[in-house]
Formats: sequence, C-alpha cells, structure tokens
Amino acid sequence: ATPAATMVGTTIGAQNGVLFKGGDVLERAKDVDTVVFDKTGTLTKGEMELTDVVVFDDGQPVTDGGETAADGGELAARETPTEEDVLRLAATAESGSEHPLAQAIVEGARERGIEVGSPDSFENVPGHGVRAEVDGDTVLVGNRKLLRDNGIDPTPAAETMERLESAGKTAMLVGRTRADGSGGELVGVVADADTVKESAKDAVAALKERGVDVMMITGDNERTARAVAEQVGIDPENVRAEVLPEDKSDAVEAIQSEGRQAMMVGDGVNDAPALAVAYVGTAIGSGTDVAIEAADVTLMRDDPLDVVKAIRISDATLAKIK
Ligand code: ADP
Ligand code: MG
Repeated sequence: ATPAATMVGTTIGAQNGVLFKGGDVLERAKDVDTVVFDKTGTLTKGEMELTDVVVFDDGQPVTDGGETAADGGELAARETPTEEDVLRLAATAESGSEHPLAQAIVEGARERGIEVGSPDSFENVPGHGVRAEVDGDTVLVGNRKLLRDNGIDPTPAAETMERLESAGKTAMLVGRTRADGSGGELVGVVADADTVKESAKDAVAALKERGVDVMMITGDNERTARAVAEQVGIDPENVRAEVLPEDKSDAVEAIQSEGRQAMMVGDGVNDAPALAVAYVGTAIGSGTDVAIEAADVTLMRDDPLDVVKAIRISDATLAKIK
C-alpha cells in the first residue's frame, strides 16, 4: 500500500477504535484465514460469579445445592454449616490470588456473609489453582490435576464436576490435607460462571460467513470450553482446551504450521506470547498492557465484532489502492 492509503486506513481504524500498529499489519489483516479467540475475557465478559457450593464428606456429595439465585445467591435456604465451611476455606485460600476465578470465590463468600481470613501462606499453581496453608492445614482449590498432584483423588466429584461443566461453568475442587498427617480429603466443589459477550455470537457468524475458520483456546477444561463454544457458534473440533498459559503460543504455532494465517485475539498476560507469534495478534478491550504491547492490533472497545471490523478496514484500504 502507498503511504497515503496506509494513513487513511490507520486513521479510519483509529476512528473506529481499531488501532493498527503499522502499515504492514493493516495489509496482513485481510489475509487472515483463521481467528483464534481466547475464551475468558475475550469471548466472555471475564466477570466471574460464584454460583455453586457442594459439600463432600467421605467421598460423597452431602448437599447438592445446584444453582444459587442469580441475584447475589440465596444459599441461605439450603445453607448448612458445612457449606459455609467449604466456602470459607476456599475463599481464605483464594484471597491471595488475583485470578478472576479466585476473586469471584472471595466476593461470593463475602456476599453470603462469610468473613474471609488470610492464609498463613499461599502459592499459585498456574493453570491449575492455588495451594495455601489455613489454620495449619494445606488447602487446595483448583482442577483435577492439582488435587491428584497433591495426593487427593478427585474422582468422587466426577459427576458433580461434569454437571457443572456441561452448563459452561468452571468447577473447582476444594481439598484439604490435615496438619496431623491424617491424609488428604476432598471437602467440596465450588463453581464460577461467566457470561458470553453480547456480540460474540455475531462476530463468530460474520467471520464464518467470510470463510474464516474460528477457533477457541483456553486453559479451562474441555467440557466447559465446549459448552461456551456452543453458545457462540464455534465448532467443537475447533476448541483447544486445557492449554497451559505457557503453551498457548505453541498452540497458535501448531495451528499456523498447517499453513494457516491466524489472528489470535486475547486480553490477558497469558495471551501475550500467543499474540506475538500469531500472523496478526489482536489485543481486545481493557486488555493488560503486556497483551497490548505484544499485539499488532488493539481493539479499544471490548467488542468481538471489532475483530470483523479490523479485517474489513484492511480489505477496504487495500481495495482503494488497487
Ligand atoms: P484461563 O485460560 O481460562 O484464564 P487458566 O490457565 O488461568 O485459565 O487456568 C486454567 C484452570 O486452572 C482453570 O479453569 C481452573 O480450573 C484452574 N485454576 C487456575 N487458577 C485458579 C485459581 N486461582 N483457583 C482455582 N482454580 C484455578
Ligand atoms: Mg483471557
């Protein structure tokens, strides 16, 4: 493109909240044949809310509370001291974490009138959960692998986990290993739910209509990921789930090694390496600075439809100069 055409395209982009980092990106965008969306914070709002607390005792679910009221959660009607215990334990362990899943657990506990303490020590296990010391015990909150790695069998919660995940929720196991050496036990399951952005489905549909393959990548488990994919119209075979933060860029490279020209769209620190290796890296919304820095395009708004807009601006700019 001529410098003048590039300038026009860049300006039109900026006026539409689509910031191209340079003329070459503006030219590349139209040739994208695959768009890979991060799930949390990109296709979904990333505003997690605690929805479920299930107590386990001796490997059995004690109460199967199901969904609490959306208006802040009426656990009260079914509340037992043990349900509160599980939530207090989970929230205390998570209070050291900045992960959206963790913050929803802490907030959910507080909304239910639970006083959330601080753990004596705390450790993030990226992509898996947290491990904390609470009242001398080791408390684990996270996925199946986290519990298994810490000597606690997650299988008694299999049905509960599957039920929650099929609803698109992120279910997390709560385990505890007593300081007295009596071994580890599964004490509960908590679940957070996120909502998909209003325009996510339209964005996927518009991209598909253009002949672009749409994929999703997430650290979340397969079942939750597929449930969300279904809500936005992404085909199940195009979902890459349980991808560890450090493996996201490898996943994008693998997709591109099939000869595809991929646009990766993401918002988080986790996404930065993947944005950097993508043919076009796109940071969305109030994305973290790290993501914006690694990206070729920044979408000022939090709107997945602006992905389509970015590609169309590239089309239009290049068409004009021919
Ligand atoms: P995402 O890509 O969706 O942001 P992550 O890679 O951060 O996901 O985490 C992957 C999975 O690890 C989560 O779905 C959850 O099961 C577990 N996990 C991560 N962080 C936490 C946490 N602080 N508390 C509980 N579970 C967590
Ligand atoms: Mg994200």
